[in-house]
Amino acid sequence: MAVGAAGYRYRPETVDRISEILGAARTAGVPVVARGSGCSYGDAALVPEGLVLDLSKMRRLLAWDPASGIVDVEPGMTVEQLWRHTLGDGWWPPIVTGTMEPSIGGCLSMNVHGKNNWVRGTMGDHCLELDLLTPDGGLRTLSRDTEPELFHAVIGGFGQLGLVTRARLQLKRVHSGLTEAKAVAAPDLGSLLQRLDDAKDDWEYVIGWVDAFPGGGKLGRGLLHFARHLEADEDPDPGASLNPANQDLPGTLFGVVPKTMMWRMIKPFTNNLGMRAINLAKIFHGSTIADGAVYRQSLAAFSFLLDYVPDWKKIYLPGGLIQHQSFVPAAEAERVFSRQLEICRRRGMPSYLGVLKRHRPDDFLLTHGVDGFSLALDFPVVEARRDELWTMVRELADPVVAAGGRFYPAKDAALPGELYRASFRNGEIEAFCGLKRRLDPDGLLRSSLATRLLGE
Ligand SMILES: Cc1cc2nc3c(=O)[nH]c(=O)nc-3n(C[C@H](O)[C@H](O)[C@H](O)COP(=O)(O)OP(=O)(O)OC[C@H]3O[C@@H](n4cnc5c(N)ncnc54)[C@H](O)[C@@H]3O)c2cc1C
Repeated sequence: MAVGAAGYRYRPETVDRISEILGAARTAGVPVVARGSGCSYGDAALVPEGLVLDLSKMRRLLAWDPASGIVDVEPGMTVEQLWRHTLGDGWWPPIVTGTMEPSIGGCLSMNVHGKNNWVRGTMGDHCLELDLLTPDGGLRTLSRDTEPELFHAVIGGFGQLGLVTRARLQLKRVHSGLTEAKAVAAPDLGSLLQRLDDAKDDWEYVIGWVDAFPGGGKLGRGLLHFARHLEADEDPDPGASLNPANQDLPGTLFGVVPKTMMWRMIKPFTNNLGMRAINLAKIFHGSTIADGAVYRQSLAAFSFLLDYVPDWKKIYLPGGLIQHQSFVPAAEAERVFSRQLEICRRRGMPSYLGVLKRHRPDDFLLTHGVDGFSLALDFPVVEARRDELWTMVRELADPVVAAGGRFYPAKDAALPGELYRASFRNGEIEAFCGLKRRLDPDGLLRSSLATRLLGE
């Protein structure tokens, strides 16, 4: 959002057409990058003077078995299209992102996590097999049994080893389209982390919101939201709640203000003073009348909070925003995140939105999963302070590496490659680059992110 590149865009509709385009790009010596829905915050789906393979027209449902919950989809199908197809049969994607716009191909390529990472893992954990079109035009079917090494490298390999042209996913059985959710306030970072950790085995979904403005004893104060799926006997009308039409997010705020107007209303507050006030209002509400509140919410409303505000990114214009999400082992999380919040305060660049999640490790080669927590911090990009912001991201990342943590490429635009590489200590980067050289010796698939992070 704060970075860009000029190139050519193609929107193929078939695998054969992708092969033709790859062949033409190779002949012309032009680099290619895949693009799903373009929801990654940074430079993941960008390549300067290259060719963007926009897969958004390849969004067909290829096979659906409502008895087993196994679905085959083309890569451009979005999370929203997927759940709209399957919820009526009682199946929900086991992993969803904070917006329903991402494509399944993009989600697998970044190996996305949801608010239930601790209990369900990543989207890759629910992928049974996928088809990969390699840069030489070959089509392989990968799974945990056939070519496990490549399967675990392609998922989370940010599109550098080939193009995912089909994915088979196992969905999760749900008996209601409703969740029961609970809101809890926490006065400081330590208690926020503790309460999140205490809740992780009792609730399917746990997420924390951090007010990044205050320091001292209030550093890292925030609110927590937990949720679980309702069982059939708890839902007075499961048939109705499972109907996708009844999941639609409200079109207005308080029944009056059209959602499409919301970003315009927030925009005047998009500065340090205004965001401090918004955060304060949220904390006040969350720690008084809303503290301990238990309520029911549709799955879509609980899961896709950001979709309540269409075009929310426009509040950050003209500079855009960057996000930095670091993953830190549980024992080190309070120390590292406190330091990060202090660094932002000292530099006068507080995060406007801070989000905490609980994670677990997984088997994917370039995984960002650790047994610990992640803190995602959003920063507006103000042109006059752009270099300072990029320097600050380096400062935020240093203690993460020292603590044995990781970073999430999908959220990143500013992380220096050497820090990303330093976060892998067991030869993972070398193994990945070895696969890349084997499958793509000419470096046909390239992205600004891969060049930055892999240093190749
Ligand atoms: C509001 C918001 C909330 C979010 N919440 C979460 C969250 O809760 N959890 C989380 O994990 N992430 C989250 N994300 C990040 C987002 O889910 C990931 O960036 C995801 O990869 C986006 O999918 P996309 O289809 O837009 O992919 P793109 O951004 O278009 O591409 C992502 C990467 O995948 C590659 N790629 C895309 N399609 C293919 C393909 N078919 N084959 C090979 N490579 C491909 C691209 O080259 C690129 O490197 C969020 C993003 C936003 C904007």
